[in-house]
Amino acid sequence: MIREEVRILRKERLEAFLRDLLRDYRVFAPVRKGELLLLDRIDSATDVALVDGKTKNSAKEALFPQRERIFAYRAEEGKVEVQVAPRTEEKQILFGVRPCDARGLLLLDAVFGGDCPDPYYVDKRAGTLVFGMACVNPSPSCFCLSMGGGPCSADGSDLLLVDLGDRYAVEAASVRGRAFLQEGPFENAGVEELAQAEEIGKEAASSMDPASIGEALEKRLERPVDDLLWAGLTESCLGCGVCTYLCPTCHCFDICDEAASTTGERIRIWDSCQFPLFTREASGYDPRPSGKERFRQRIMHKFSYLPKGRNMTGCVGCGRCVTECPVNLDIREVLKKISQAEAR
Ligand code: SF4
Ligand code: SF4
Repeated sequence: MIREEVRILRKERLEAFLRDLLRDYRVFAPVRKGELLLLDRIDSATDVALVDGKTKNSAKEALFPQRERIFAYRAEEGKVEVQVAPRTEEKQILFGVRPCDARGLLLLDAVFGGDCPDPYYVDKRAGTLVFGMACVNPSPSCFCLSMGGGPCSADGSDLLLVDLGDRYAVEAASVRGRAFLQEGPFENAGVEELAQAEEIGKEAASSMDPASIGEALEKRLERPVDDLLWAGLTESCLGCGVCTYLCPTCHCFDICDEAASTTGERIRIWDSCQFPLFTREASGYDPRPSGKERFRQRIMHKFSYLPKGRNMTGCVGCGRCVTECPVNLDIREVLKKISQAEAR
């Protein structure tokens, strides 16, 4: 950590800091909802639950909601009135986002902000700051290190907070983050605090499996869909789509019209490559007719097509699909089996 880019926030000042943020920003942060830990919009600084572990949902929901209106219309007496959804100008902060989720936003930025920018995402993103929270105790399902990230990675964050016990070391990771650190309740960091933050980062990383999954995998991925390996890997998959909905990088969507007699709206909703209707064409033909083709698509998109097309992997190792799959289909095991298979 570079001393000039790290400052200290004492925990007793955190609540007041969040209250200040709430005056000027929409703030999303981890909150408890029943038994769930969710990243959700907060109204009060006291709503925030900064506990070990990641939220059930990922940070993508704040920028790419599960359901989003594009426009609404009313047709009356031969006239059609269209109301386009207002472009978001409100500034927002995603507070306490884990490093895997912050890194996932970089992929969404490339997809939605690329050659053909998506105004609904891009507008929200322009007004968004990401305040990441380093993982001091990564869970056994996390494998961010194998995916090129790390429990204290600042990739995708504007500020990264590292828990030092009674205070946070706050690292600036972007120009906007650096500007933010110049004001507010921050104090200068001492040599000992910098060393402590470094040590915490090393310990967190050393508690994880450092093996890179990528190299052997790439050589063996191009197996045709009729390869028996795919059938064996995917026979237990239910096609429920949980893995894609919770994934911080999955971004497929559908556009639907919801119409009543004279009014209606066009909405964008999440879709999933694991659903049977996802690729069914109007003729009734489906180029991916079974779970085997659909599961292969998910793996190929993340570990072959995105690395080739965008130089980014479509997985940040958050482990949500590992813990939430109802049939315990562990993507790490899938990748290991593909990596260990004979090269073709
Ligand atoms: S969560 Fe599991 S069962 Fe559901 S689609 Fe994903 S891999 Fe298949
Ligand atoms: S594929 Fe699974 S482990 Fe990887 S980012 Fe998506 S949900 Fe997380």
